[in-house]
Amino acid sequence: MAQLDLRAKLAILADAAKYDASCASSGTAKRKSAPGGKGLGSTEGMGICHAYAPDGRCISLLKILLTNSCVFDCHYCINRKSSNVRRARFTPEEIVDLTLNFYKRNYIEGLFLSSGIIATPDYTMEQIVRVARLLREEHDFRGYIHLKTIPDADPELVHQAGLYADRVSINVELPTVAGLTRLAPEKSAPRIEGAMRDVKSSIEDLRDAKKRFKSAPRFAPAGQSTQMIVGADAATDGDIIRRAAGLYGSFGLRRVYYSAFSPIPDASAVLPLQRPPLMREHRLYQSDWLMRFYEYQPGEVAQATDPATGMLPLDIDPKLAWALRFRERFPVDVNRASREALLRVPGLGVKAVDAILATRRWRRLRLADVARLTVSIAKVRPFLIAEDWRPVALAEKADLRSLVAPRREQLELFAA
Ligand code: SF4
Repeated sequence: MAQLDLRAKLAILADAAKYDASCASSGTAKRKSAPGGKGLGSTEGMGICHAYAPDGRCISLLKILLTNSCVFDCHYCINRKSSNVRRARFTPEEIVDLTLNFYKRNYIEGLFLSSGIIATPDYTMEQIVRVARLLREEHDFRGYIHLKTIPDADPELVHQAGLYADRVSINVELPTVAGLTRLAPEKSAPRIEGAMRDVKSSIEDLRDAKKRFKSAPRFAPAGQSTQMIVGADAATDGDIIRRAAGLYGSFGLRRVYYSAFSPIPDASAVLPLQRPPLMREHRLYQSDWLMRFYEYQPGEVAQATDPATGMLPLDIDPKLAWALRFRERFPVDVNRASREALLRVPGLGVKAVDAILATRRWRRLRLADVARLTVSIAKVRPFLIAEDWRPVALAEKADLRSLVAPRREQLELFAA
């Protein structure tokens, strides 16, 4: 590998990291400084960083790879062994310096660190842990650290990563085992899931220990997350929704990120030539919200897909698709219905539903009251009953979908 200066390495290794969508720093807590130390950095404030898609939509984390060299040859990855890209590698000390310098200049609030596999998974994991250890122990860094861990590494090394990091993540990569076997033949679904299970146990064990002993160490207090690539294999949206639900249920994940496959330079011939529509990724995030915040069972979210193709519609959101499919569940009486039923009304968000429940304790709601809580009363109206409104037979209308779907220009604006 030719000698590169720090700026050139940064250009290569920050660009290479943009394909990873799974970086978010919400949901963590303040770290205490070492005894006697003044400490550096703060993780307080929900949502100071968010998760981003593969085209680099990232924010104030320093998001880099330790190296973009890799001994594996995953077909979808620009850093795979057979890829003809310029390679670079940081030393752990260089990453520590960059993180501290960027932090002090207020450019970043933390570090997201991933890596290609250098020599062996264990050696790579040791290097990643070294970065985190230097930051936390030698520099008393209290900012956010998200470490991408390597499932094939020694579980003890992954455990050490969790002791330093706010969040750890292990990518499941593809939604199905068949897709993983085909596109990442050196990776193993059982090993990936085994590593996620270990992380889940450590999070739970040390969370319990912390309740009993103040001095117990913290382990990945912002939890673990994972990422799936969408559109690189034949998995349908239904497959992806079911896989995500299984991951949330089995491993207590904080987030599943969906990353629309981006065609890469010098791509492997087994990959599709085109990226899936960005809207597909957006619809999958919406379906994820239905499971996490709207009390839908995973099987119900999958019912929003087209039975013939297994795909979510692109022109309407999954909640609306579900409501149009199960029209007999509507209209819902805004003055009587349960929270669960109200959450299913297209166009009503969680905050709007909570506001309805709070208001109706002391008075009955009219349509105009609901209109103040939603962006589009036209979308909501066919699905609810209010004090002065009943949709008569609107829900039976054959053209209801065209009445409530967003206009084409709105969709094009989003796609753009
Ligand atoms: S192991 Fe990671 S970095 Fe290496 S080729 Fe596979 S996806 Fe890319």
